[in-house]
Amino acid sequence: MGGDELRLVTETFASNWIAPLGPQVDAFEREFAEKAGTSHAAALSSGTAALHLAMRSLQLEPGDEVICSSLTFSASVNPVLYERAVPVFVDSEESSWNMDPTLLAEALEDGAKRGKKPKAVVLVHLYGQSADIDPIATLCARHGVPLIEDAAEALGATYKNRAPGSFGVCGVHSFNGNKIITTSGGGMLVSNDARLIEKARFWATQARDPAPHYQHSEVGFNYRMSNLLAAVGRGQLRVLSQRVDARRANCAFYQAALADLPGLSFMPEAGYGRSTRWLTCVTIDPAVAGVDREQVRLALADQNIEARPVWKPMHLQPLFAEARCYGGVVAERLFAQGLCLPSGSNLTPADLERVAEAVRCVWRSLGR
Ligand SMILES: *Cc1c(COP(=O)(O)O)cnc(C)c1O
Repeated sequence: MGGDELRLVTETFASNWIAPLGPQVDAFEREFAEKAGTSHAAALSSGTAALHLAMRSLQLEPGDEVICSSLTFSASVNPVLYERAVPVFVDSEESSWNMDPTLLAEALEDGAKRGKKPKAVVLVHLYGQSADIDPIATLCARHGVPLIEDAAEALGATYKNRAPGSFGVCGVHSFNGNKIITTSGGGMLVSNDARLIEKARFWATQARDPAPHYQHSEVGFNYRMSNLLAAVGRGQLRVLSQRVDARRANCAFYQAALADLPGLSFMPEAGYGRSTRWLTCVTIDPAVAGVDREQVRLALADQNIEARPVWKPMHLQPLFAEARCYGGVVAERLFAQGLCLPSGSNLTPADLERVAEAVRCVWRSLGR
């Protein structure tokens, strides 16, 4: 936590406004929309809920196709299944680890040929770095397919000096405990479309029709953010830029400390924007390093240092075994070789030193 969260929560207690609505929610939405570069925002119970309402707004029919990034967390794709639609995956490009525009073009053209024009593209901005939005947005516009941005890992990042999440018809953010700022759990749907956000709020509060009694014409959900958690979110928003600086400093430290290890490379930072380095991710090429990702991960675990493999691509998940995928080898390599190093914004210099030394030790004992 930063400094203001407890004071804002205490104020909320004093006002006795303990509900999934209230003045803190309204203020958080306003302040967040400003940071996110959109005119409207709806505070929700999670990023997954925000993605679900984004899917809901597409009015999908069972069997409709939605194009998704393959290299991501399953929460990017599960909401497609909630709406009985079918995900179609697109591989990453090497330069940003995010969706490859050339393969997206192929997926869109092939969809048109098969008479299955996709109902949306869900574009993920991975590990704090924006995807290359311009060519992707151009392709979506050319094919008349709405673009939805999953910016859950990229709050605070930039793409050509703008916030990822503000380019598509709507964008999704997350305040889960592991994200760059947190409300313990929560999410935000952002958009410049006032009607879309209004409708999302309606669905998120049980789809109550305007009537003095309880009347419903549509399926509703209980997806609103608590007024207490919105107070935490407002405090967190004030320290976002400090959190970005801390995450980038972690990455800069690792880069300096590990630069000379053969076969170890860092996730590239694309020239079109600024990554938050939410997580510092590296790849380990075993042919050059003499050690592989799992050996490094397990050696760190032996010293009680938790590091995790890069996301397992969705096209390799048992859940999506039947799904179509355009490309796949880039995400497969990133999964085979990728490791996320400890990256919390509260790591001390001694912590970072200890992690770097543990990594170097693996190369000394086993590597080249
Ligand atoms: C965390 C995350 C989500 C889901 O957010 P929750 O708030 O945990 O539901 C969605 N997509 C990506 C890429 C994420 O990392």
